[in-house]
Amino acid sequence: MSDIIQLLPDHVANQIAAGEVVQRPASVVKELLENAIDAGATTIKLIIKDAGKTLIQVIDDGKGMSTTDARLSFERHATSKIRTADDLFQLHTKGFRGEALASIAAIAHVELKTKQEQDDVGNTIVIEGSNVVSQEVVVTPKGTSIAVKNLFFNIPARRNFLKSNTVELRHIIDEFHRVALAHPNLSFAMYNNGSETFNLPISNYRQRIVNIFGTKTNEKLVPVDEDTEVLKISGFVGKPEYAKKTRGEQYFFVNDRFIKSAYLNHAIASAFDGLLKNGTHPSYFLNLKVDPQTIDINIHPTKTEIKFDDEHTLYALLRSAVKHSLGQFNIAPVLDFER
Ligand code: ADP
Ligand code: MG
Repeated sequence: MSDIIQLLPDHVANQIAAGEVVQRPASVVKELLENAIDAGATTIKLIIKDAGKTLIQVIDDGKGMSTTDARLSFERHATSKIRTADDLFQLHTKGFRGEALASIAAIAHVELKTKQEQDDVGNTIVIEGSNVVSQEVVVTPKGTSIAVKNLFFNIPARRNFLKSNTVELRHIIDEFHRVALAHPNLSFAMYNNGSETFNLPISNYRQRIVNIFGTKTNEKLVPVDEDTEVLKISGFVGKPEYAKKTRGEQYFFVNDRFIKSAYLNHAIASAFDGLLKNGTHPSYFLNLKVDPQTIDINIHPTKTEIKFDDEHTLYALLRSAVKHSLGQFNIAPVLDFER
């Protein structure tokens, strides 16, 4: 007999997990912004250099971490957000897999600074490719700053695979928009290569949309509001006359999380039946609130897909809510009458 199976060392396992969690700089942006939100931050700053290839930094004023937690946060499956498998169906946080920081630290140079409100000093930790380079006491404001440098420094194939700065920056901005739209009650700023790209003060949802997409957007928005036993729908759809040939602003959030769903996108599009010129797509900014017991978000590491217990009912409710709003605002299905 000869045994050949071995447990992989942690840094190898982390690097493998990173392959799923971190596809590009924008994935790091998403994970760091979500951690800041989970930490109860109200002001969140994103700093980018070279489209995230040299620096991605998120600074928050959230609750910070203790000395021990600061070190533990980089271990795989280390999380403060769930304790039992049942908690997966009561999620009120973005994170729960305890994987992001371990994955990021496996494939980049990471510098963490963190301090809890009640402490006089905080901690700074430097980790490069899963190796802790230093951990020291530091004077730093309440909250957390995580700087991620030289992403994929130890995976040349991944680094070479990155697209141009223009494309990677576009992905980062998309991710920033998604998070900022889900949380108008928090203030966000983004700096790219030293200049301010976005400064979004705390506001209501309409203002947040307008702050991101420009004042002209305001007149295009039709409110959607529907409260039923199974779900609450709120947000806006774009007036049909502003629909574009390209799939532009289509944002769909479930319990404050940006979600991709071709099926529910179809429900919204079908509510516009007869209102849109051929080949154009409506814009929408819609939030669904559902009981966390009725969804499963743990079907993909990036958490942009979701499994609903009863997708058909959601489809019908969503379609009718949008139709109702369009009707209320006298946006009559012109083509239907002409037929
Ligand atoms: P998850 O978010 O799934 O728990 P992460 O790897 O993203 O996993 O983070 C691990 C842990 O580190 C979190 O559960 C949290 O306790 C802590 N943490 C990460 N980022 C922050 C932050 N910005 N502020 C406070 N704590 C944080
Ligand atoms: Mg996280």
